[in-house]
Amino acid sequence: MPRRTRIGFLLLAVTLLAIVSGLRRGATDETQTFRWPVMGTIAQVTVRNRSLSQTDLPALQRVYTRLDERLSAWNPDSELCRLAAAHCTNWLVAASPEVRPCYAAALRLARESGNAFNPRVGARLRELGVSGGGAYSDFDLGAIAKGFAVDVLAETITRRSAGAPPALLLDLGGNLRVVGDGVWRTGVRNPFDKAGPLVGVIALTNGESIATSGNYERFIEQDGVRLSHILDGRTGAPTRGIAAVTVVTPPEYGAVLADGLSTTLFVLGPKDGAAFLARHYPRALALWIPDTPAAPRVILTKEMARRLQHVVWPSETRTQTER
Ligand code: ADP
Ligand code: MG
Repeated sequence: MPRRTRIGFLLLAVTLLAIVSGLRRGATDETQTFRWPVMGTIAQVTVRNRSLSQTDLPALQRVYTRLDERLSAWNPDSELCRLAAAHCTNWLVAASPEVRPCYAAALRLARESGNAFNPRVGARLRELGVSGGGAYSDFDLGAIAKGFAVDVLAETITRRSAGAPPALLLDLGGNLRVVGDGVWRTGVRNPFDKAGPLVGVIALTNGESIATSGNYERFIEQDGVRLSHILDGRTGAPTRGIAAVTVVTPPEYGAVLADGLSTTLFVLGPKDGAAFLARHYPRALALWIPDTPAAPRVILTKEMARRLQHVVWPSETRTQTER
């Protein structure tokens, strides 16, 4: 990944974290945060009431490292890259059992979205020189692997604590999932003014996830023109028109779908995206921020409009989708 984009991306991850911890409920609640770099981004585990000790950490870190060894498009020795180099066609059979659900979710989203979401954009990403994907593999899981990894870590923690996990919040590069009891207030940023007021706040509870796909942290610059790192998987062209998409999913969808859907809805836009959700993922909530910095607007699904709190943007800048 080019240095410029990598730095931008790390900054994004770090600022997201600041928001979450800044908004944490009850200043008396003792929270502790563990943070480390992995999968080209920053991983963060925030625990309440010392429910996790430093000694638990290496086992949790190994989960992400192991998944990265399987799913990275950046490491030529990863399982993904080795399969791609061997001209794999049947990923679902070839991939090791632990990561098959990640491939399954990606292929399913591709089918359902008519390839708007398309893991086969890897070659095109490389051709365009996009930072995010396809360095060594034509098959790219960059839009979904981090969310998947968050789900695997959530399961691991739940299993290790015999089904009664401590209250914590997982964050992997902007893909968040709540584990255990507790309410976590997460902020949705204004993509045009990261330091400014939030677009709103969403309170998440056990098993819920939130993910954001943005155009402002990772992008390609070609002849001074900024191109999105999210392509329309149907045409291979960089997307236009959307600055950010945020998706909230219930426990049964998981962080994997919050991640995958945020990319899918980025490509589809609010009109087709809301129809897509109503048809395939009716329990997911979404909001879109069109790429119009001079006149910022937010477009929300009905359920997202009900969940989003402390909205400071004036009401005339908010639109609800029809579905
Ligand atoms: P980020 O990784 O920047 O947080 P996303 O989850 O939206 O954001 O994933 C973007 C990444 O997904 C790109 O960097 C690229 O690797 C990959 N990608 C780009 N376009 C598509 C697409 N249409 N379908 C699937 N993956 C895509
Ligand atoms: Mg995504």
